[in-house]
Amino acid sequence: MIRIRAGKEKNLLRHHPWVFSGAIENEPSEAGIHEVVTDDGRFIAWGCYDPQSHIVLRLLSWDKSVFPDEDWWKDAVRQAVLRRRSFLEDKAGDTTAFRIIHGEADMIPGVAADVLGRLVRVIVSARIAWDMRSVIVDALENLLHPEMIILNTDTAFCAIEHLHEVTEYYRHGVRFTPSERFDDIRIRERGLYYTITPGSGQKSGFYCDQRENRVRIENYVKDAVVLDGCSYTGGFTLHALRGGAKSVFAVDSSADAVHRLLSNVNLNEELGTLPPGSRDRVTAAKADIFETLRSIPRNTYDVMILDPPKLAQTIKSLDNAKRAYKDLNRMAMEKIRSGGILVTCSCSGSLSREEFRTVLAWSAKDAGAEVQVLETLGQAQDHPVRLSFPESEYLKVFILRIIK
Ligand code: SAH
Repeated sequence: MIRIRAGKEKNLLRHHPWVFSGAIENEPSEAGIHEVVTDDGRFIAWGCYDPQSHIVLRLLSWDKSVFPDEDWWKDAVRQAVLRRRSFLEDKAGDTTAFRIIHGEADMIPGVAADVLGRLVRVIVSARIAWDMRSVIVDALENLLHPEMIILNTDTAFCAIEHLHEVTEYYRHGVRFTPSERFDDIRIRERGLYYTITPGSGQKSGFYCDQRENRVRIENYVKDAVVLDGCSYTGGFTLHALRGGAKSVFAVDSSADAVHRLLSNVNLNEELGTLPPGSRDRVTAAKADIFETLRSIPRNTYDVMILDPPKLAQTIKSLDNAKRAYKDLNRMAMEKIRSGGILVTCSCSGSLSREEFRTVLAWSAKDAGAEVQVLETLGQAQDHPVRLSFPESEYLKVFILRIIK
């Protein structure tokens, strides 16, 4: 039995799943599932204690009669899958890429899983999820029957979770070692096609969390000159083209991403999902977004999209990250045409929505611009935010009008 120090139990009783060692009164001698109680002995939850994890105690079940054994994990996966029924039943095939397990927000610690067409990508960021991986893989196999499941540990968490950097491949639930590079697969999102090489690319290979925001920008780009900053494989670029942009300049620091972006534009033009001539309206460069914003001329772009990687990796680096977000957005506000639209994103979980807004206000002041917030957006519904776990809200997107 693990006792929580008096005063530290409030969020846990409200189903916050993380307990750090400072909140624990008596560290148990053995790792594993323990009953977790308040200082005065009231049941809180069943939790997994693992001193090697950077979160030593992870709460799993708040119901005393439900012990988190293998069947609990199996059922948790099944429930997460059932909650994505609308995606699975999308018979028109309009969208074939979506998140099927969103970690703690789906009550499954340390597991992110994306469906990418006939492929499932599982990313493990907690020791407990690593230990349970065969149960998770079997459950996904039985529920989804994908062609392949690729599971890997999240490199960003390997050091703090004492996990190795590993990738495992499963076909029909059986592990195998691939002998050659996989053929590309094609996924569809809101009617547009993207290719992915299974097992390569960033994160799971595709960022499904921006799906709805990509569609939103179509309303702002008719006849516009657009900059897609940190474009990856073209999520926003393709939607800008479909929305009638006059031209798009896409910038990403990854040469592979830029190459893939251009081939995605070609593919959609060939398939008729983008209008003829789309390819001629796009230029793409492997470049640094800060450098790009410094060097582009003023008053050229009507719409700018800024979707940088996580600039704040941890709370500790928050101050530096705020400065980076401020500079990036200041430069965009300075360079954009007056009346232009800035779509600005932050996927840093440790930077709150309010803090991001404050940073944008600093940028506006330094750029000498009036800024109107037109839309306040976040992550797509397959990446739910769990109210008891504010950390699950990580993507903040503002659509701004910049007036100078
Ligand atoms: N907008 C994309 C997702 C962007 S993810 C989409 O809709 O799919 C962030 C991207 O920023 C990654 O592709 C990464 O390669 C790129 N990136 C990282 N640092 C960068 C930098 N300094 N300049 C430009 N791109 C950068």
